[in-house]
Amino acid sequence: MYDIIIIGAGPAGMTAAIYGQRAGKTTLLLDGYSYGGQVINTPEIENYPGLKKVSGLEFANDLYEQMTALGAEIKYEKAVSVEKGLNKAKLVSTEEGGKYMGRSVIIATGAKNRPMGIAREDELTGMGISYCATCDGAFFRNKDVAVVGGGNTALEDAEVLSGLCNKVYLVHRRDEFRGDAHNVARLSAKDNVEFVLNSTVEALRGEHKVSGITVKDKDTGALREIDVEGIFVAIGQVPDNKAFENLVELSEAGYVKADESCKTSAEGIFVAGDCRTKKVRQITTATADGSVAALSAVEYINSL
Ligand SMILES: Cc1cc2nc3c(=O)[nH]c(=O)nc-3n(C[C@H](O)[C@H](O)[C@H](O)COP(=O)(O)OP(=O)(O)OC[C@H]3O[C@@H](n4cnc5c(N)ncnc54)[C@H](O)[C@@H]3O)c2cc1C
Repeated sequence: MYDIIIIGAGPAGMTAAIYGQRAGKTTLLLDGYSYGGQVINTPEIENYPGLKKVSGLEFANDLYEQMTALGAEIKYEKAVSVEKGLNKAKLVSTEEGGKYMGRSVIIATGAKNRPMGIAREDELTGMGISYCATCDGAFFRNKDVAVVGGGNTALEDAEVLSGLCNKVYLVHRRDEFRGDAHNVARLSAKDNVEFVLNSTVEALRGEHKVSGITVKDKDTGALREIDVEGIFVAIGQVPDNKAFENLVELSEAGYVKADESCKTSAEGIFVAGDCRTKKVRQITTATADGSVAALSAVEYINSL
């Protein structure tokens, strides 16, 4: 029986483990992939207070070392359900067949990239379609690529790619970008970036790998064929909390409902980071949640 079982070893989950261990509680982290979460795809973090510049990997490694040195345990398994057991215990089951008992549970499952939702997207993911320009951009050196999206992530992806690729088409469904004006201005000044506004991607071309896209002008309905070898999708994120929908209340968008207290609708179940209802999803807010959720869990355990 662990005191706290934390589902997800991103910045929120690992911070929760640090606070849990330091409060003298046993913690188990479960992660279906690896430790670090989304930050491992971030080449440079420049907005975490106290760290002027750090790579995402270094940040994740430091958090990992800090929590394991304090005695936190981690298993690379994906949680598929949490059930309430006898005497308020919780049973967490994993896809790999693991069954773990905890006095409390912290859900810290983060969020995932939103797919475009068009035919053959799954089939061509990894064969020209990517959701991370900083991870995969180098594979498209001197090639023509498209970035899909209109927020800061899309604008920043287009900037990174403009330094590597021959040509970057930035396809956005509205006639102006949601991202910061200074990012737009920087991109406008680049010779190898073309804005394809008011347009949606209708179809993907290429047999075994991407060779182009068909975009549709939303006003005129005109179709345009653009030859590209890479497509970088940056249209936001979605949470992955389906496994917990019968346990805790979720928002319409699928985020676990909770306020700054990180308490969910279920007794002894807490939530931290990008997977909960909140306005700002950043490393600072994820680590802040991790500490709050862990201290709430400690208070709950002590009251049992
Ligand atoms: C490319 C990129 C760049 C970014 N740059 C910055 C930046 O510069 N500054 C900044 O502040 N923020 C940045 N962010 C956002 C920041 O990374 C996130 O806000 C932060 O990682 C959220 O932390 P989290 O712990 O809530 O979730 P995540 O980092 O998403 O971690 C969640 C973890 O849970 C695991 N998981 C999910 N479901 C399960 C399950 N059922 N069972 C077990 N494990 C599960 C996942 O494998 C993952 O490891 C960036 C994000 C991206 C994608």
